[in-house]
Amino acid sequence: MALNKKRLERSKNRSKGGGGGSFHRLQDGRNLVRIFSFPHEVTEDDFAKGIYKSSDVDVGDQFDEIEREVASHFTDEGSLNCIGSGCEHCEEAKKLSGSKSKSDQKLGRQLSARRRFYVNLVDVDDVASGVQLSALPSSVFNAVLNYVMDPDFGEEILGADGRDFIIDRDSKESPDKMYSVRLRDEKKCEDLDAGLQDDVTDLFTCKALEPGWSSNSDLNTAAEETDDSKVEKTRKQKKAKDAAKDEKEKKDHDFKDDDEDSGDKAPWEKGDDAPEFKEGDKVTFEDDGETLTGVIQEVDEKSKVAEIKVKKDLYDIPLEELTAAKSSRKR
Ligand SMILES: [Zn+2]
Repeated sequence: MALNKKRLERSKNRSKGGGGGSFHRLQDGRNLVRIFSFPHEVTEDDFAKGIYKSSDVDVGDQFDEIEREVASHFTDEGSLNCIGSGCEHCEEAKKLSGSKSKSDQKLGRQLSARRRFYVNLVDVDDVASGVQLSALPSSVFNAVLNYVMDPDFGEEILGADGRDFIIDRDSKESPDKMYSVRLRDEKKCEDLDAGLQDDVTDLFTCKALEPGWSSNSDLNTAAEETDDSKVEKTRKQKKAKDAAKDEKEKKDHDFKDDDEDSGDKAPWEKGDDAPEFKEGDKVTFEDDGETLTGVIQEVDEKSKVAEIKVKKDLYDIPLEELTAAKSSRKR
């Protein structure tokens, strides 16, 4: 029997030190991506999570799915996936937003959950990085979904022999005009390695996307929601220690190449391919429909959040949402 060299090559690329992280993010300019569906078998948990309704499907049914919707809060202590009803951050955000003070209202907007749609995709300009997870803004995901639901296209546009999506991003535009999504001409789309389909992540069981999950173990309540919470928690605590001890080694690890660890890297914990931001950098970001430009005052490496001064106001923004302002960085 021969080794599957193509697959090994991909694994090598994923696991090499400082190699591409398994989280992809849309860059300014043209992004060329192929979106993959993932197979999922319905479990009892899915009903509790609200992924399916028990009246529609049965446990054990199998489906090909595309996305998982995740709402996240970005707090001073780190990012945290919203747990839905009873979420203290949502309540706090609501309270602040209802305040008379402008700055409280702003804080409320910052603290409110941001909704994104995670998908498996391959960056066609960087196929060596393999299948990555990407959090698409709703406008982009809706555009993708429109193509998939359109009988003229359908789900054959997904996967290795599917078609590329051209996603243009201009962070200087207002959020509603920031992205444009087109399907690439069929003749220009090349078939990708069919084995890539085996590398997709089941987003419905991916720990980093679970409600209550946080990159900060002090905030993380996701484990407690599972049945064997105690076992899980102990394991997590032990793991957190191991992680601290072995941080460098962990950095070299890819999100997906270690089953045990698969949930422990979050979207905002970027690989080395993510742009690095430091104090004094000029950056832009979105805030409630506005694109703001400011200067980084401080970067919290632990929670991956930067404090940014815009005129007289300070904002805490996750690093992954920042874009380098043209004047200070070269692309
Ligand atoms: Zn919430």
